[in-house]
Amino acid sequence: MTTTDLEAEVQELRAQLRARETEVERLAQELAETNRGVVALYAELDDRAAALGQLSDTKTRFLSDMSHELRAPLASVINLTRLLLAYSDGPLTAEQEYQVTLIQRSAQSLADMVNDLLDIAKIEARKIELRIETVPVSEIFAGLRGLFRPLATNERVEFIVEDPPESIVLVTDAQRIAQVLRNFISNALKFTDAGAVRVTAHPLDDGRISLDVADTGIGIAPADQSRIFEDYTQVDGPIQKRVRGTGLGLPLTRKLALLLGGEIRLESRVGEGSRFSLIVPRIHQTGQGA
Ligand code: ADP
Repeated sequence: MTTTDLEAEVQELRAQLRARETEVERLAQELAETNRGVVALYAELDDRAAALGQLSDTKTRFLSDMSHELRAPLASVINLTRLLLAYSDGPLTAEQEYQVTLIQRSAQSLADMVNDLLDIAKIEARKIELRIETVPVSEIFAGLRGLFRPLATNERVEFIVEDPPESIVLVTDAQRIAQVLRNFISNALKFTDAGAVRVTAHPLDDGRISLDVADTGIGIAPADQSRIFEDYTQVDGPIQKRVRGTGLGLPLTRKLALLLGGEIRLESRVGEGSRFSLIVPRIHQTGQGA
């Protein structure tokens, strides 16, 4: 190779290098622009997240204020119907008694709905306080037995609250546990025409306690099994329409279960029945779930 050839090649390589440098510069510029775009996009996302957060706070405050405001008038309607039904203002005709009972029932279900809404608002605002105490499950079950025996009036459905196999003692918020179980039981009674509603408790292999409400009712299709834990969701069916509730019960129970450091499990077969389980640790760890 001659010197001239060498020089020509060096020049050629230099030219290539310059071309590459220009290309790299162009790419770097493009990258910087893209970066600026991404940064702007992040800023916008931040703004949107802040706006959503504010919206959610407003919703929570609205729910909470509205529930508080509705509770007092509803309580007085319920108390008045109680007085009327106790004949404190004189006896009622059969028709009047029937109508006042209907008013009482509607006011009560409205009050239940308001209470559920208030609880949901409190949980969302992280304002619910657990009252941790040491309590045997047998005590929680005794309360449920006393509460539901008079309400379980369908003779074709047996209502059984089994004594816990050993004396299982929990350190937890017993009121909130009872609230979840009350919800399971009232659903089970609502959706069971014949057979039994059975409340049981047993320890799991991992040491946690499973509190179960099993029924022999209409069951829940696999596609609906997770949907029913979403707010305001109910299964669309003729029986479900007849006994419409609020669709807030199960979402609330799931939130409460998480707050208690536990979870809810559901097993169900259409036409055979359902088993709702609240699984909680024996001892609630402060700060758990909340
Ligand atoms: P609500 O009972 O007030 O409608 P829930 O959130 O408690 O609201 O229940 C949501 C839906 O889940 C009910 O409407 C019903 O369709 C279904 N469901 C709940 N429990 C049972 C059950 N034990 N058996 C059959 N379906 C049930």
